[in-house]
Amino acid sequence: MDYKNILVLIDKDENKKLSELSKELIGKAREMADVLSEEVITLAIGNDMKEVAQDAIYYGADKSIYVNDKLLENYTTIPYTRVLDEIIEKYEPQAVLIGANADGRDLGGRICARRNIGLVADCSDIELTEDKKDIKWVRPTFDGKLFSDIRISSYPKIGTVASGVFRINKKDENRAGELIEEKVEIPESDILTIVKEFIKSPKEDKSLSDCDIIVSGGMGIGEKDNWHLIEELASAVHGLVGATKPVCDMGWVPVEEQIGSTGVRVAPKLYIAVGISGAIQHIAGIKKSDLIVAINNDPEAPIFKHAHYGLVGDLFEIVPMLTEKLKEIEN
Ligand SMILES: Cc1cc2nc3c(=O)[nH]c(=O)nc-3n(C[C@H](O)[C@H](O)[C@H](O)COP(=O)(O)OP(=O)(O)OC[C@H]3O[C@@H](n4cnc5c(N)ncnc54)[C@H](O)[C@@H]3O)c2cc1C
Repeated sequence: MDYKNILVLIDKDENKKLSELSKELIGKAREMADVLSEEVITLAIGNDMKEVAQDAIYYGADKSIYVNDKLLENYTTIPYTRVLDEIIEKYEPQAVLIGANADGRDLGGRICARRNIGLVADCSDIELTEDKKDIKWVRPTFDGKLFSDIRISSYPKIGTVASGVFRINKKDENRAGELIEEKVEIPESDILTIVKEFIKSPKEDKSLSDCDIIVSGGMGIGEKDNWHLIEELASAVHGLVGATKPVCDMGWVPVEEQIGSTGVRVAPKLYIAVGISGAIQHIAGIKKSDLIVAINNDPEAPIFKHAHYGLVGDLFEIVPMLTEKLKEIEN
């Protein structure tokens, strides 16, 4: 087969518009396709996807395919895999970029299993090799302390990519492209699960993504029993509590409180990072904060490169003192 062009799987955000992650992936695919003199093809799977597909052209797609079906209204593994599989079969792209959100991670694994090909999951970067003949799929390893350059030997080369990594092209409503509707037959036997309803998380009322003050804790807090220090400081500044991924993975706090590239992205007026090292995946979620204050006992901690104010010292001394002082000021 003559594998050519870059296929990007695109989706809608909660406002039914082309998601930011889709725009980022189109941006990267455009950059690579220009170097290779190839095309960017986007694929929107769902119901009522024409508008999103048209938007993809404005952001850089040459061909924008959409597949509409009531059965594709919500993401389910098998029908989406069937559609992607058929589109890959017909268009033979050399690479497929999928957003590393919950659906994309699921689909990435499933499509590669179906086609018996390689996948690089949760990439933090993608680059063409110098000779332009291969793609470097870069992903963090050893808890983000190293980056590995992975190559895929099968075709198409498929990777899921985290958000907040690539530049979004300026929307150009005069940009021309080919809008293509494809039909894919979804057999009854593909419907193994039905999404009946989405239930709002009770936490969503107090949203981390649109609050003014956040106090976030990292592994420096040591153990769950010390977490009250973060909660007390958050309460003293009338802010919400956030956490790093390992803190959530340990089960010290609910996963909804995870901030970063695979958690919530925040943009508060004040972000207080306590015992957080400042790994890129965490920084990706906090870089839009107006003011970052970091408390860490390691003066070399990467978080200090991003913080506007830094307190170098033991959080077990600083945090209770700070909480006390803030309470005093308020009273
Ligand atoms: C694909 C992928 C996605 C990821 N997504 C996310 C994400 O969305 N969000 C996220 O946060 N991480 C994410 N990570 C994990 C990330 O790479 C880091 O491992 C994580 O952010 C580190 O968390 P931490 O800062 O709490 O812990 P650590 O890196 O262990 O840092 C603890 C910090 O506490 C300090 N400390 C220790 N004791 C004290 C004390 N007594 N007083 C003051 N300071 C102290 C230390 O100096 C250190 O800097 C992801 C990783 C991968 C591979």
